[in-house]
Amino acid sequence: MNTKPILVVGAGFAGACYARTLAEAGYAVTVIDSRSHIGGNAYDEIDHNGNRVHRYGPHLFHTSNEQVVDWVKRFGEWTPYEHRVDAQLADGRLVPLPVNRTTINTVFGAALSNDSEVEAFLRRLAVPCESPRNAAEHLYSKIGIELTDLFFRPYTKKMWLMDLEEVDISVVSRVSIRHDTEDRYFPNDKFQIMPKHGYTAIFSNIFDHPNITVRLSENFNKAMHEDYLHCFNSMPIDAYFDNVLGELPYRSIKFHHRTQESAADWKCSVINFTDARAFTRETAWYLLPHHRQPDGTGYSHTLEEPCDYRDNGLERYYPVKTADMRYQKIYKKYAELADELPYITFIGRCGTYQYLDMHQVINQSLMGAEKWLQRR
Ligand code: UDP
Repeated sequence: MNTKPILVVGAGFAGACYARTLAEAGYAVTVIDSRSHIGGNAYDEIDHNGNRVHRYGPHLFHTSNEQVVDWVKRFGEWTPYEHRVDAQLADGRLVPLPVNRTTINTVFGAALSNDSEVEAFLRRLAVPCESPRNAAEHLYSKIGIELTDLFFRPYTKKMWLMDLEEVDISVVSRVSIRHDTEDRYFPNDKFQIMPKHGYTAIFSNIFDHPNITVRLSENFNKAMHEDYLHCFNSMPIDAYFDNVLGELPYRSIKFHHRTQESAADWKCSVINFTDARAFTRETAWYLLPHHRQPDGTGYSHTLEEPCDYRDNGLERYYPVKTADMRYQKIYKKYAELADELPYITFIGRCGTYQYLDMHQVINQSLMGAEKWLQRR
């Protein structure tokens, strides 16, 4: 056992991966989190209706990375689950999202019957653009103006408070465009699973190691560096440096919970509202596997209303990626400052200012921890 312990700031996936890997390598690890619970934004809990609710919005696990899956499976049982989303049209009809053949046939009253017909149809709608510079040009070149303005423009505006012209392509290309009838939200991922007993239970098991101490409701302060060999820190990197180079903005979400007396007759657990109403989507929690307890009473739903993180108690959920990369450029300068400090490594969504999914955070963090161990 090494003499000085390691400090991990943040008990979400990034912190958990670092803590567990370093603990297994023989280091004593202290994990602190300013919140009163483990799990970061993946935290879930059983609500008053006996439904499992993800406190910070639906977390669907998907990846093609076998090592990531093998790792998370060490810490609990997972159950297969392929996520599907419906988008609600102005007239109330529901259509699959990703935009696929069914979506296109419904919207245009068409009868396209195979991939090549859809391809030809979209080619007629598309606004050709050799090298798209932003989300609008990208989407117009793939699906044309009408579909873009129906499914992406108002949703993106309320989500990011920006027009598609200002948003980076990588943000909207998280959602695929299909020529077939594939309606899974993550069609390209080999593994699509959910923790059978919730994410929080997975985190409890990850932290359940004799070398790991977890302290909740505790804020980081720089004096802590004295007592630790190294600090892996998932706090916002701009906040660590007292915003000296400017602020890195985030979008946040206000969650509105409601209870239904009976189960909704939905095909999917999530419905997206792609029009201009304030909410972006609604989750019916009990439609996710193992999310309703046998003795559950009501049926829990959550609506999401995007907002600036400053209007939501500084809850940072989504780093903002504009087409001109202005915030990524500021982040890079913070990362250069951090490189000067040999005793700290910034990790996770807020530490690296990246719009990362769970599997990407896990992959980066496991690799980062291994690399750090190799360098010692
Ligand atoms: N998006 C959209 N309409 C939709 C779904 C997504 O315009 O119905 C755009 C929007 O800009 C959103 C991005 O695609 O922020 C990524 O969507 P995703 O569902 O991956 O967002 P997340 O689940 O991370 O909130």
